[in-house]
Amino acid sequence: MKLIITMILSTCFIAATVAYTLDASCDEHQANMELAMRSAASMAEAAVVQMMNSNVNSQWKSAIDLIFKDKSGDRLEAIGTVKDKQMAGGPLNSNEVIFSCNPDRWVDYADPDTGAKKIGTVWNPEHKVQYEDGKTVMETCKIDCTTLFGSLAKAIPQKECLIGFTVQEYEKTDEQTFLLVDNKRVPAGPAVITICPWYLKLIKSKGSHVITDEWIVKAAKSGDKAVNAIKYALRKKPIDKLSQHFLDVTILHELTHTSFGGDTGDEEDGDNGKGYGWKAVTTLRSTYNADSYAYAGLVARMLNANPPYTVDKDGKLKTF
Ligand SMILES: [Zn+2]
Repeated sequence: MKLIITMILSTCFIAATVAYTLDASCDEHQANMELAMRSAASMAEAAVVQMMNSNVNSQWKSAIDLIFKDKSGDRLEAIGTVKDKQMAGGPLNSNEVIFSCNPDRWVDYADPDTGAKKIGTVWNPEHKVQYEDGKTVMETCKIDCTTLFGSLAKAIPQKECLIGFTVQEYEKTDEQTFLLVDNKRVPAGPAVITICPWYLKLIKSKGSHVITDEWIVKAAKSGDKAVNAIKYALRKKPIDKLSQHFLDVTILHELTHTSFGGDTGDEEDGDNGKGYGWKAVTTLRSTYNADSYAYAGLVARMLNANPPYTVDKDGKLKTF
């Protein structure tokens, strides 16, 4: 009965809300995934509230001007609604996001033209996301990067560490576009966000699934030293210690890659490689770059902390 009521409500508000599902591979991380998902949606919502506020908060304005050249609240608006978890196995459509916690969940497929076996979640001749530096994204997601997030990170190419990836097909006109779930072929449509297993294990051991006021205070006090979350030498600014180190910020980043979340990319920043981290974000000032939205959500979260914090150009956190 409860299920029917939920379904009716979802139908009524279908244009405004997005539901998510946790794949069975997330069973072990269910509580952390749910907390992080809720926190990611709240960060997006808080950023939208600030962006829509006609009485602009001066702390917000100075921080958001560092992140974006233009206003871009609409991209985060849909993400702020992703709060309802659906039963697994429910309807699949483009207004749904499936979280997977292990790339092995998605099976190998054969190229229908050549018969060659490939690894991936989706078959579409135009789909390039699987292949990067000779390795598939799926393979890269299986590499254990725990130690690479430590002090050696500088010496290791960043691209070899993958913490998660998003797959979404936007056009359903091509019959060859499908997902393989448990060996069953289903039409593509929902976004599939895979969080890599090594990263989930690390998040669990560090307890860094959700940004808390305590973590913000620690990051503010840390200067250029790492806080007791994941150390990552490539992200040296104090605010960077609150970004990929936390599952909720990672989820927010991935959600912006979905079609409902704004179809962002990971933009290249000439000096800094991919557009990850505060330095790249504030150099790009782009409304297309995924991490820029993750930082916008993070700034909104910091403004709502007790005590509230803001961030300056150098990525230092200051209370006010
Ligand atoms: Zn990304």
